[in-house]
Amino acid sequence: MNIPFSPPFIDQAVIDEVVDTLQTNWITSGPKVKALESEILTLTGSEAAVCVNSWTSGAIMMLKWYGIGEGDEVIVPAYSYCATALCVLHCGANPVMVDILDDCTIDPEKVKSKITEKTKAIIAVDIAGLPCMYNELNALVNDPDVKAQFVPGSGRQALLGRILLIADAAHSIGSYYDDVPAARKSDVTIFSFHAVKNITTAEGGCICLNLPACFDNQEEYKFLKLFSMNGQNRDAFAKSKGANWKYDILFKGFKMNMPDICAAIGLAQLRKYKNTLLPLRKIVYLKYCNSFDGYNWFIKPVMKDDHRESSYHLFPLRIKGITEAQRDQIIEEMVNRGVVVNVHFIPMPMLTYFKSIGYDIDNYPNSYKQYACEISLPIYPQLSNLEIDFIIESVIASVRLVVGIKELVKVSS
Ligand SMILES: *Cc1c(COP(=O)(O)O)cnc(C)c1O
Repeated sequence: MNIPFSPPFIDQAVIDEVVDTLQTNWITSGPKVKALESEILTLTGSEAAVCVNSWTSGAIMMLKWYGIGEGDEVIVPAYSYCATALCVLHCGANPVMVDILDDCTIDPEKVKSKITEKTKAIIAVDIAGLPCMYNELNALVNDPDVKAQFVPGSGRQALLGRILLIADAAHSIGSYYDDVPAARKSDVTIFSFHAVKNITTAEGGCICLNLPACFDNQEEYKFLKLFSMNGQNRDAFAKSKGANWKYDILFKGFKMNMPDICAAIGLAQLRKYKNTLLPLRKIVYLKYCNSFDGYNWFIKPVMKDDHRESSYHLFPLRIKGITEAQRDQIIEEMVNRGVVVNVHFIPMPMLTYFKSIGYDIDNYPNSYKQYACEISLPIYPQLSNLEIDFIIESVIASVRLVVGIKELVKVSS
C-alpha cells in the first residue's frame, strides 16, 4: 500500500467550482473570494473575514496593522512552524519564545513571565487543531497590572490599550472553545489554506477579526482589503466593470490578496466541511485511539476536554519512553511499509537560522520532549477503512520492531 500524508480534498464539486471560475473570465480577487469570506463568517461566527494569499502574509499584515516594528516584542511558542516567528522578524520586531504545556499549546504561565513593557502581541498556536488556553490568555492580556505596563506605540495600540491576542489557527478551522467557534476567543485569528491544511486554496489564508467594541470591525475589514492590495482604492474587479479606470493609492499597502481561482477550491470544500469533511476526520481520530488505547506505549493526543474541541488537523502520536533516534527508526519502518508520516514540529530553536540568532533548545525542555517522541499519522476524509487498518498495523509492527517485543503489552482491547 502507498498512503500519502495529507493529499488535498479534490472532488467533482471542487473541479466544477474552479472550472466555473475559469469560464467567467475573472480569475483574480472577486466574487469567489467574497463567497469564501462569507462561508468563513458563517463557520466561525466572526465579525469580519479577509482572505489573503497565505497565513504568513496575513500575520505580517496584522502585525503591521497593529504598528509592530523595531524594538517591539511578540511572544510565541517555541513549538511551531517557522512562520509563527518569521512574521515577527519580518516586521523588525523580536519573537520571544516560550515553552508549551503537555497538550503542546503555549503555556500561559510562561507567557506571563515573559511580558515586558515592549510586549505588543501574543501569537498562540492551535497545534494539531486544539485551541490554546484562551480563557487564561484573555485574562492575562486584560489583567490590570499587565495593562498598566503596556506602552502604546501606535494609534491602534492606544485604542486597544493592551497586548493584542492573535491566534495562529493554521490548523484549527472549525475548532470550538466553550461551545463557540474558537476564532471568537481572540482579537485576530488567522487560518492557513496551504495545500496540507483542513481547507485548502493551494496557497492562501484568512484573517478573522473579533476585535472588542472600541474597534469597528467592518471599518477594519475595509482597511485590510485595501492593505492587501497596494492601498489602492478601486480594485481591478471594480475597474473591470465599465469606465472605472481612475484609481488612487491611499497608503503603503502590500500585495497579498487571494485570487478567485484559488478561492474556488476552498469554497467548494468549505460548503461540506462542517457536516462531512470535519466529522470524517474525527472518525479517523477515534479509530486510531480505539486501536492504540490498550497499548502501554500509547500517549493519546488531547483533542477534546471540558473547554475545547479540536479540528482534528493532525494525529500527533506520541510513544512513551522512546528516544529521538528510536522515533526516527519507527518513521523509517513506517515509510518502508508505504505509510508517509511526518513530525510536528521540529521546535524552532533547533533550526539553523534560529540557532544562528541565539535561540537554544535547552531553554524549551517540554518542546524538545514533545518533539522527540512524536509521529504525525495520516488523518484526512479520503482515508478508507482498509488504509486506516493498514496504518494501525504498520504502527504496531514498527513500534514492536524498534522498541522490542517486551515493551508491547496490550492491557485491554
Ligand atoms: C502552515 C502553518 C503556517 C503557515 O501557513 P502558510 O499559509 O503556509 O503561510 C503557520 N503556522 C502553522 C502552525 C502552520 O502549520
